[in-house]
Amino acid sequence: MTKTLLKLSSDNYYSKEANFEYLSVSQYKDFCGTMAKKGCEYSALAKLRGEYTPEPSKDMLMGSYIDSAYEGTLEEFKNNRPEMFLTSGKNAGQLKADFIKAQNAYDRTQRDELFKLYMSGEKQKIMTAELFGANWKIKMDSYHADKCIVDLKYIKDIHDRTWIKDLGYFVNFIEAWGYDLQLAIYQLAVEKNTGQKLPCYIAAVDKKTTPEIELIQINQIQLDASLIGIESNVKRILELKKGNLEPDKCGVCEYCLENKILTSPIDSSRLIEI
Ligand SMILES: [Zn+2]
Repeated sequence: MTKTLLKLSSDNYYSKEANFEYLSVSQYKDFCGTMAKKGCEYSALAKLRGEYTPEPSKDMLMGSYIDSAYEGTLEEFKNNRPEMFLTSGKNAGQLKADFIKAQNAYDRTQRDELFKLYMSGEKQKIMTAELFGANWKIKMDSYHADKCIVDLKYIKDIHDRTWIKDLGYFVNFIEAWGYDLQLAIYQLAVEKNTGQKLPCYIAAVDKKTTPEIELIQINQIQLDASLIGIESNVKRILELKKGNLEPDKCGVCEYCLENKILTSPIDSSRLIEI
């Protein structure tokens, strides 16, 4: 008999229980990494078990600021994040510069009719689906039923390029941060639920002094290519989550450094191994 899966809502979506029952794209990236960021099974598992709770970075908070502005929950978000406000000086109580910047970026997107149209779908739409042998949960920023899937990204620079040493070429921000994989999973999950394969877009705004906005379609070839190798990765993640395998340590993340144990001296030639 199969166990009935937890029914997800905005209240329990990020709960420990939901994270153990379902795989999400962010969990997947924690375990396997992206082109720009190495994954770490050791810290990913510790995060799931509640043994490691990293403070949200400034960039993550700035992104959440715009997400909640679009979701219509900005006041609540501000109330829960006192660290976004200045506590002393003549501007005490005002937003810190980074969040004024986020507000300006949001305002910029609001001046564009097409951007607003793409972002006018159902907000934070949750779906679940069985894919690649795992139960997945997804939360879409702007879901237009029967039409398309849109994900909002607040990034450093829309035209940023990242050099990938192993490949020997530059990739754009979508490939670097695995946003193609994210949308590919969303597309498959929606297809499982509705039978429709929908086009996928990134609604991007960046952090340049004058924020630039863009709507970017990720083509089907790229979506499909981003899923290469996912099956075996998912299989390993499920075993790790069940505790059947020992997690690998990346050796470079905050959690690995915090828990580093010396066993013997190293040769100085290993210090700048890359
Ligand atoms: Zn690590």
